[in-house]
Amino acid sequence: MIFPDEALEVLRRLEEAGYEAWFVGGAVRDRVLGREAADVDITTSATPSEIETVFAGERTLDVGKSFGTIRVVMPQAVYEVTTYRAERNYIDGRHPETVEYSRHIEDDLKRRDFTMNAMAWHPERGLLDLYGGRQDLAAGLLRAVGVAAERMEEDGLRMLRAVRFASRFAMKLEPSLRKAIIDQHTQIERISVERCYEELERMLTEGHPDRAVDLLAETGLWEALFPELPAANVSRPLLCAVADDAASRWAAVGSGNRTLRTREVEENTSAEREAGAKERAKRMTEILHRFKASTKRSSDVRLLLEARAEALPQTLPEARKWQGEHPKDTRRILQFLAEISPVLYPEGAWRTKTLERITHTSALIDIIEESHLPISIKDLAIRGEDLLALGMKPGKRVGTMLLYLLDQVIEEKLENTTSRLCEAARRKLEEGENG
Ligand code: ATP
Ligand code: MG
Repeated sequence: MIFPDEALEVLRRLEEAGYEAWFVGGAVRDRVLGREAADVDITTSATPSEIETVFAGERTLDVGKSFGTIRVVMPQAVYEVTTYRAERNYIDGRHPETVEYSRHIEDDLKRRDFTMNAMAWHPERGLLDLYGGRQDLAAGLLRAVGVAAERMEEDGLRMLRAVRFASRFAMKLEPSLRKAIIDQHTQIERISVERCYEELERMLTEGHPDRAVDLLAETGLWEALFPELPAANVSRPLLCAVADDAASRWAAVGSGNRTLRTREVEENTSAEREAGAKERAKRMTEILHRFKASTKRSSDVRLLLEARAEALPQTLPEARKWQGEHPKDTRRILQFLAEISPVLYPEGAWRTKTLERITHTSALIDIIEESHLPISIKDLAIRGEDLLALGMKPGKRVGTMLLYLLDQVIEEKLENTTSRLCEAARRKLEEGENG
C-alpha cells in the first residue's frame, strides 16, 4: 500500500515516542480498492495532549479535541490524528453520550460503521482487518461492524452513510443491514437536518445518484426525508445526465420525470409551462430550505429550475440583457438545459427546436464575451458623476438615467462613448423638463 512519505513520517514520530499508530478508515479502504484517496486519517494510542506533545514543533489544531481528534499541519498536508476510541451509551440515537479513549486499536475498529471502513494498515504490521472488510469489498457487500440493527439504532445517520457508500461503490447492502434500515427508516427524523443534508448532497454528487435514489426509495428513507416529492417523480436518467455539481443534481431531483414533462409539453401553453417551472423551483427551494441549505445553493437551484429553453433570448439585445442580469450563471443554465433536454423530450420536432434555441443563445453569449459588448451599467463610458456634472441632482433618477442609457446602447441606438452618452442624457433631461 502506498502512502505519502509525510503521512508515514507522522506515523513514525508517534511510534518513536512510544505510542502505536495506524492508517485507518477511508484512506485504507480506497487503497484496497485501488482508488485515489483524498485524506489520510491516522488513529493512535496517544491521547490528544500526548499527540500535541509529539507534534510540539508543528502547528496543531485541536478542533475535535473533545472527540479525540488533533489536526497536525505538515508542510504538504493536514493529517487528522485521532485517539483510539471506544464509544458507549448512545442514549438518543444521535450522539455518543461519552467518548472513552482506549489504548487498544481493537476498540477503535469495533466502533466504526462498516467493515470496509474498519480496516487499519501499518507499513510493518500490514493490514489489520478484524471484520473481513477486504472480503466484503471483493464481494461487493456493505456490512455493518457487529449487529446491524444495534449499530443503526446507536446512530441513525449510519443509514444514510450506508446508502451513500453502497451507491458510490455499487455495493449491495448485506441483508441484515438492509433489513435494519427498512425497519428503522423513520428514525432518520431524529438526526439533525444538517447532518442528513451533508450525506444527501454527497450521495447525489459522488458517482451514482440514480442508485442512491433507488436505495433511499427501497428502504423507505426517501419518503421519510422527502414526503412532498415522490421518488417515482425523480427521473434517474436525468439525474445522471446533468453535471455532478450539487446545484445541478438538486435541480435534476426537482425536475420531474420524463413522461410527465412530455405530456406537459404537448398539452400546455407556454404560460402554463412557465407556471410549472416556477412551481417546481418553489417546491425544490422549500425542500432545500427545510434542510438548511445555503442561500447560494437554493438560488442556484432555483435559477436552473426556472430556466426554460423556449424563453431563452434569441436576439443579441435580449441576450445582452440576460447576460447583464446573470453574468455568472448563463453558461451554467445553458449547459443544464442542454443536458436535460434530450432526456426530457422524446426525439422529434420539439427536442430539435429546443436544442437549436440553446445552441443559438450560446452563440450569442460567445459573441458578447468575445467582443466585450457592454451588458451592464458599469460597462458604460459614463458614470453617475458625469450626470451630476450635467446638472442632475444625486438620487434615484441618476440610476434610472444610467439604465435608460444602457438600454439604448444594448438596442444599438446609441454608441458607447462618453460624448454620445452625455448628449443623449442631456436630450433626455430636456425632454423631461418640457414634457
Ligand atoms: P469518504 O472518503 O467518503 O470521506 P470516509 O470513510 O473517510 O469516506 P468519513 O465520513 O470521512 O468517511 O469518516 C471517516 C471514518 O470514520 C470512516 O471510515 C468510519 O470508520 C468512521 N466513521 C465516520 N462516521 C461514522 C459513524 N457515524 N459511525 C461510525 N463510524 C463512523
Ligand atoms: Mg473522509
